[in-house]
Amino acid sequence: LAEPKLYVLARPSIDLGEISRFLSDEALEWHRTDNALAGEELVEVAGRLCYLSFSSKQSPKSNSEYIQNLIANGHESVLEHVSWSFLLTGVSRGFTHQLVRHRVGIAFSQLSQQYHDEENAGFVMPKGIELSSEASDIWKQQMNASTAAYRKIKELLSEGLKEQNPTFSTKELNRLSNSVARSVMPNATETKIAVTANARTLRHFLKMRGDIAGDYEMRYVSAAILKVVSSDAPSLFSDFALRYFEDSSPRVVHLPDENS
Ligand SMILES: Cc1cc2nc3c(=O)[nH]c(=O)nc-3n(C[C@H](O)[C@H](O)[C@H](O)COP(=O)(O)OP(=O)(O)OC[C@H]3O[C@@H](n4cnc5c(N)ncnc54)[C@H](O)[C@@H]3O)c2cc1C
Repeated sequence: LAEPKLYVLARPSIDLGEISRFLSDEALEWHRTDNALAGEELVEVAGRLCYLSFSSKQSPKSNSEYIQNLIANGHESVLEHVSWSFLLTGVSRGFTHQLVRHRVGIAFSQLSQQYHDEENAGFVMPKGIELSSEASDIWKQQMNASTAAYRKIKELLSEGLKEQNPTFSTKELNRLSNSVARSVMPNATETKIAVTANARTLRHFLKMRGDIAGDYEMRYVSAAILKVVSSDAPSLFSDFALRYFEDSSPRVVHLPDENS
């Protein structure tokens, strides 16, 4: 049985040397905010570039006020310069099927069920099922039956598929055999997926997915993402907050929506 885990493969960074070179070439000055973080400064520089609001044109707004103003005015394309790469494991195929529906500003690389033999796949037990030991037992039996069926189908077809497709390479025969057998694997099958997304997309994702009461896996992953991004670039996510349901499971709320 698998539990969701989030690894952070890459975080926002900024090359202050290159920014200094640009400012010096253009004879501009930038008054930086103390303690602003890499992703926040990158957004500020990209935003200021739009109006060349450096030197005397720079208002006294702090980095955080500057970013809040961008968001309030809907000038959110500037947030697309900042991105994170995550690796998720211990999540279900059902969950990733929903995740990969997000198309814009996000990239995925997922464990293949065609190249990867799933005979030792893990399963993600859905939260809630533990309330009934009978339901849990039925669920476990079903997972074991899926694995057994997967292995048996591969075993039964191994010679027949070769004979039916004599010109196929070993790689393609394996793909074919895995493709046939995977059709018995359930939504609960554990998968691994790398996700790279920019801050604008993550904000959209968290708004849409972070607080769907009946979708524990989405809420759990949304909360894990919010913890990372709001620590790395607090000003970009200051209008989101982590809350908990009565069962202590997390939810991500968008404060303006919560208060409206
Ligand atoms: C509660 C809930 C229930 C859902 N139920 C279902 C369901 O039953 N069946 C189902 O198939 N899906 C369902 N979905 C998935 C949903 O329809 C979206 O496909 C998914 O959430 C991705 O959202 P998105 O399109 O906003 O994101 P992205 O694909 O990342 O797009 C981001 C934004 O870009 C713009 N955009 C992207 N593509 C286009 C385009 N082609 N034309 C115009 N604007 C575009 C839109 O403003 C969009 O919001 C559900 C989602 C939620 C949150």
